[in-house]
Amino acid sequence: MNLLDRTPAEAASAVERWLADRGEPTYRSRQILPRLWQRPVVTWRDATDLPQTLRAALDEEHPLPRPAMAARQVSTDGTVKFLWDFPEGGAVESVLIPEGTRRTLCISSQAGCAYGCTFCATGRMGFIRHLATWEIVAQVREMAFDPDIGLPSNVVFMGMGEPLHNWDAVDRALTVLNDPQGMGIGARHITVSTVSLIPKLEKLAARPEQFRVALSLHAPTGARRQLLMPVERKYPLKDVLEVLQRFPRRVTFEYVMIRGVNDRPQDAAELARHARALGAMVNLLPLHPGGAPGMEATAPADIERFAQLLRDRGVNATVRRSRGLDISAACGQLRTQVDQGNGIVSQKDAGIEE
Ligand code: SAH
Ligand code: SF4
Repeated sequence: MNLLDRTPAEAASAVERWLADRGEPTYRSRQILPRLWQRPVVTWRDATDLPQTLRAALDEEHPLPRPAMAARQVSTDGTVKFLWDFPEGGAVESVLIPEGTRRTLCISSQAGCAYGCTFCATGRMGFIRHLATWEIVAQVREMAFDPDIGLPSNVVFMGMGEPLHNWDAVDRALTVLNDPQGMGIGARHITVSTVSLIPKLEKLAARPEQFRVALSLHAPTGARRQLLMPVERKYPLKDVLEVLQRFPRRVTFEYVMIRGVNDRPQDAAELARHARALGAMVNLLPLHPGGAPGMEATAPADIERFAQLLRDRGVNATVRRSRGLDISAACGQLRTQVDQGNGIVSQKDAGIEE
């Protein structure tokens, strides 16, 4: 059984049952369980506080699966991009972004993405597969084994994939990431970024923990949003905003700035209206051209002017700095080339093909 695919509570009962069946004392579970997430081991062999026979039995019956690190690239700005290859096939990326004392890990929830936003490199890959809970958590857990990195302080679901499309696995991954018996990362330090699939958004919002929600908005009206995000046809912006209105939860709007598309003063006014209605913060993301052939980022001075228009209307607006651009590690640039047999052929700089 793959204990890493369970929640901490489920893993605890599975381990306790297993120990009882083997006639082992129950206190062993208190030595075994922390080795899953709190003080993780690569294999049970490394859990040297356990007797050798027990370690061998654990390796035999509850092996700890790991992704292979297919690539690790360090940017000149300190951003680190990882490419993971899972035993089940499918390759995904995660990106570590150090900033002062905060170290944010941007993780993937799917290989590829089904939602086809026009500006996004992952969207152009199409959908490959959902990641399992353990594969989502592994991207964080593996950091403990990297001597230069260590565990992140913050986790954001802003890598590849639409987390709410893979809700069952993401729901459980949130539990493992947050639970003190799991990775123990505070809920306020975990952000789920989503285009907002309404039924799943309601489930996320109904969880008692204060996970952060980032709504990928990108255009202030449904009609204009639909041109960038096909999901608008199924889950219209006005309905999404109405759902968020019902949940007293701080949200952030993400708004990618595309020249001549969504950056007019009138767009800022409309966006400000939505933000004020929800008390939402707005994060302006300069478009990363790697994701979007034929589109250009709004010029930095114009982004600043747009942000000022929001602030003038009482909205807390920030402009996100582009990180890791030299290694194509920025949002919307993540794309992995995978061959027919699911082996990784190469990792292309998104946009080079077009
Ligand atoms: N599927 C989720 C999470 C992954 S994308 C979502 O869409 O929210 C994470 C963020 O990167 C989203 O806000 C997305 O809109 C943004 N993004 C995608 N392509 C981008 C690009 N080319 N430039 C800048 N941001 C981009
Ligand atoms: Fe998928 Fe998010 Fe990219 Fe849209 S922006 S295609 S939802 S990963």
